[in-house]
Amino acid sequence: MNFRETAYRSVLDRIAAARAAAGGADPVHLLAVSKTQPAEAVAALAALGQRAFGENYVQEALAKQRELGALAATLEWHLIGPLQSNKCREVARHFDWLQSLDRAKLIAPLSRERPAGHPPLNVLVQVNIDDEASKSGCAPDEVDALAAAVAAAPGLRLRGLMAIPAPAPDLGQRRDAFRRMRALYEALRTAHADVDTLSMGMSDDLELAVAEGATMVRVGTALFGARR
Ligand SMILES: *Cc1c(COP(=O)(O)O)cnc(C)c1O
Repeated sequence: MNFRETAYRSVLDRIAAARAAAGGADPVHLLAVSKTQPAEAVAALAALGQRAFGENYVQEALAKQRELGALAATLEWHLIGPLQSNKCREVARHFDWLQSLDRAKLIAPLSRERPAGHPPLNVLVQVNIDDEASKSGCAPDEVDALAAAVAAAPGLRLRGLMAIPAPAPDLGQRRDAFRRMRALYEALRTAHADVDTLSMGMSDDLELAVAEGATMVRVGTALFGARR
């Protein structure tokens, strides 16, 4: 096994172990975060069986998709970075998931620009769970209204919630943030049948996130090595 395959197997093993420890029957999905990585790194991971890739910047993602050609169409593309309203058209056309929906004014343009022949764009509402001034995401008490507006929009499908908790050195603090996310998620599930995704946990805390109910972890560094 080369470096890349070793890293991939190791992340899959970490997720499986965390899931087993949590006694979870539901699958936990791996999103490979390929921001700043070249198209060649995406192709290499795809060759090992990885399908879902997360990108932070729309232009970078589109350039990579063009470079990957036919392979790109067989992969699932998630936007996980902040979305500016002037990029809604490109996101609606070239992504399968938007994980960073955090304000109402994005909903109408995304809905309008989703091409008729495409399946609905899967949407996660991003929550600023630690109330950080620098972070995108809506406030916890805005989740219900935003989620309802997404669920009602043609061409969009509400799938759940995403969060990036504050990088607290204290694991207890991070666990608490994950728990508050799970409570929001469980409440949302009772109101919306399509909701099945709680996206939280990254390279250094995916075990904790899975223990607290994550159904999707977003992993970059542990798969691809440090970013430049
Ligand atoms: C970069 C990024 C990740 C991956 O972080 P790693 O620590 O490299 O695993 C996950 N989620 C979001 C939103 C990111 O921007």
